[in-house]
Amino acid sequence: MSIQFRKEIKYAKLLSPLKDYKYDEQIVEHRLDPLLQRETVVTPGRFQYVKRLFESDEKDIYNVVENTRANCPFCPEKVQASTPKFPREIVEEGRILVGETVLFPSLFAHMDYNAVAVISRDHYLKLKEIPEKLFDGVKAGLIWIKSLHNYDKKIKYACFIQNYFPPSGSTVVHPHIQVLASELPFNILKELLDRSRKYYESNGTNYWTELINIERDGERFLSESDNVVWLTPFAPMHTYEVSAISKGLSNFLELDDNVIKEFVKGVKCVLNFFQEEGLSSFNMVFYSGPLGESSKEYFRIGMKIIGRSGYRFPFVSDLWGLQTLMMEGEAYETPEAMAKKLKQYF
Ligand SMILES: [Zn+2]
Repeated sequence: MSIQFRKEIKYAKLLSPLKDYKYDEQIVEHRLDPLLQRETVVTPGRFQYVKRLFESDEKDIYNVVENTRANCPFCPEKVQASTPKFPREIVEEGRILVGETVLFPSLFAHMDYNAVAVISRDHYLKLKEIPEKLFDGVKAGLIWIKSLHNYDKKIKYACFIQNYFPPSGSTVVHPHIQVLASELPFNILKELLDRSRKYYESNGTNYWTELINIERDGERFLSESDNVVWLTPFAPMHTYEVSAISKGLSNFLELDDNVIKEFVKGVKCVLNFFQEEGLSSFNMVFYSGPLGESSKEYFRIGMKIIGRSGYRFPFVSDLWGLQTLMMEGEAYETPEAMAKKLKQYF
């Protein structure tokens, strides 16, 4: 069966004090991700109510930036003395340097192989300033991933994760990217790979190519370059959620400079939009099919970016128990409405 965009519209009914206790109905759309079959609720009625919680207070930002500057391990005067080095068999020189980027192993690893790429000499960057540092960060990560894969061909799974500013889960303000690798796939990557393979086996076509063909010029479509397509997903797990799909590549070993530049160009559009919306924090993942294995028939490299809560009193997280414990997505705006605003930035 080809790609299905399934949704069911329900209504929450109440007598609202905001409407003099008259009868009120609010739309709750249950949407299913066409590949993963994960459910998310889209509740557009909440967006105006919660929008201010995605915006930051400039004074709060200033305070955390200045208070973390003196002891920052990633600032240029400290980074050489305070960060670890790789064992020689993996990186001969101990660290990888590309432009302003310094890449080294995480001091407290999240994964069997975990590098950290400090991408700027500046302690703090506004969202709009991050993309110009990203290309070198990704290049450095790829050099490391390639040397890991040469060191041990069993290391097949890798991704880049950027957590920016404290609401994203980042413990260090200074702009950096985590690069993770393992013999074992990460949960969502495993699911994406399994379901993409099954889709190919049942339909004889590549899910991602089909998705691009269906979404092209539709309401959620944002832009297309030679190698990369940007869109908002039909069933977003978060309010500010944007996806990118490589048109032809399935794993990081196939990436070249042009393709990286096209991904970074799209990130720039998304972060410009986020900043104009008042956001200051985001998570980004850049994921790949198994390194050195052909998965071109059924898989494609992809990227996902989500905007996170604002940095301001009372510091409410946009992720509550529904998402973290019940694994149900929730978006306070439809992806179609989000795409309409975001498209102007592409
Ligand atoms: Zn710093």
